[in-house]
Amino acid sequence: MASIFTKIINGEIPCYKVAESADFIAFLDINPNAKGHTLVVPKKEENKLFELDETSYLGLMTFARKVAIALEKVVPCERVGVSVIGLEVPHVHVHLIPLHSMKDIDFKHKVSLTSEEFSELANTISEVFLASES
Ligand code: AMP
Repeated sequence: MASIFTKIINGEIPCYKVAESADFIAFLDINPNAKGHTLVVPKKEENKLFELDETSYLGLMTFARKVAIALEKVVPCERVGVSVIGLEVPHVHVHLIPLHSMKDIDFKHKVSLTSEEFSELANTISEVFLASES
């Protein structure tokens, strides 16, 4: 069965998209640890990060780096933290989390945003990402 992220990639369910390439997509985590919490996902569905072939792994990290740079320009923070878990969604994804303190990397700590706030944030990060690509 297709993962929820494959359904997002196929446009079957919506997301707050911040960046996309031929092989990768980044969108806001719907249940964020901190404002700007973003997931970076390879379009090809694989379960585990370290099962990716080296080209896909390096491509994912290169794309995640570009997204993180755009994210940090939009969401003021101490730094962007990185986490890879995959216990809930078995489709490789990199969590990018704007950190203000250690609690922001704690997955029991959550913040809530309205759909308008999610949309505005995604659009702003997307604009900064696209500007960095041109
Ligand atoms: P994990 O697999 O443990 O790394 O966690 C999966 C993450 O995906 C969690 O942080 C969820 O909040 C997030 N998530 C699950 N479904 C969606 C969705 N439809 N859109 C955005 N984020 C999601």
